[in-house]
Amino acid sequence: MSIYLDNSATTTLAPEVIEKINETNSKYYGNPSSVHTVGQEARHVVDEARREVADFFGANPEEIIFTSGGSESDNLAIRGIISNSEPRTSKPHVITSATEHHAVLHTIEDLEKEGKIEATYIKPDKDGLISPESVEKEIRPNTILVSLIYVNNETGVVTPIKEIGEMIEKTNSELPTPDSRLLFHTDAVQAVEFMPVNVDELKVDLLTFTAHKIHGPKGIGGLYVRWGVKLAPQITGGSQEFRLRAGTENVAGISALAEALKLVHSTQSTVHSKVEKLRNKLIEGIQKNIPDTILNGVRTKRAPHIANISFMNAEGEAIILNLDFLGIAVSSGSACTSRTLEPSHVLTAMGYPPEKCHGSIRFSLSRYTTEAEIDKVLEVLPGIIEKLRAMSPFKSLNESTNSH
Ligand SMILES: *Cc1c(COP(=O)(O)O)cnc(C)c1O
Repeated sequence: MSIYLDNSATTTLAPEVIEKINETNSKYYGNPSSVHTVGQEARHVVDEARREVADFFGANPEEIIFTSGGSESDNLAIRGIISNSEPRTSKPHVITSATEHHAVLHTIEDLEKEGKIEATYIKPDKDGLISPESVEKEIRPNTILVSLIYVNNETGVVTPIKEIGEMIEKTNSELPTPDSRLLFHTDAVQAVEFMPVNVDELKVDLLTFTAHKIHGPKGIGGLYVRWGVKLAPQITGGSQEFRLRAGTENVAGISALAEALKLVHSTQSTVHSKVEKLRNKLIEGIQKNIPDTILNGVRTKRAPHIANISFMNAEGEAIILNLDFLGIAVSSGSACTSRTLEPSHVLTAMGYPPEKCHGSIRFSLSRYTTEAEIDKVLEVLPGIIEKLRAMSPFKSLNESTNSH
């Protein structure tokens, strides 16, 4: 029996979703672009799914572009806006944060290196929060895009997207010409299951989502693009996805994504508080039974499924391996950084010294997490930490500096 607490890296497939994939793959194998009946049946599956996905976000079907996942959607949003921007007298300016997922951060850094944009990377406060004021301060006459993560995938801290969207709308309403409008993109990958994601309420122009973080399959996701926002395609070829993303549609993946969202919608009212309760039990149990721990990121204003905790004088990788040995899957920071042994860019941006990052563990829960699983983690963790601390060569060295 394994206990899976790494749902921010990916999630298990919901049984209903598996059924949907199998059904679509066997029944609707046609190419949606084909004129014959077999093709048109597949086209119908894609159209239906697009309508359902659009409904979920409060959007129109023409505003949903299916992609291969969150990374591609982030690239399409950012590169699509930049390569489509009108020739300007000054270089376009992009505002983002230092705590973005790498799919956003590396994309903006690359564009900056290529000399195509100027970029500002807003630092969060020590709790990981990004305020509307800190964004507003950075807006320049040549700013064309703001891209901010909705729920941070390492800490679970929530960015006030709605408030920032309102601030940007107000800024836009004071502009002399509407076509110099500042656009707002959010990577909502970690928010879809637990937070409000109605695009009109959030006042976003572009929103990234992916199936495999909400109990759907890997390799399928999407981008909401507000009607009238012009993007340049990043994959060219056929005219699929309103000419914004060439390639034969992943019909089974698309129907599975729609099914996954349907399940989110039908379980939303109960899942949030259930997961939050278990997450709080985990945090409180750790804080009560293990000395010298820090909860990373603000205590309130966080999504219910993530707890990122530093265990001082214990090495993160060693904690992961010890838990894994007992069938418990967790991760350090994000899966992307854990292999490099570099301190997390998110915790570093929050002002953490490397030694606090190294002992940081991300526990991420899902709607399928049970109380018995949390109890098991709380039962074994104190012993593991105690053992690792006893072995730590830095113990005596750090003891004097880490009194908090
Ligand atoms: C997982 C994740 C992504 C990447 O999505 P993929 O579908 O794996 O490409 C992007 N942003 C955030 C916040 C994520 O957690």
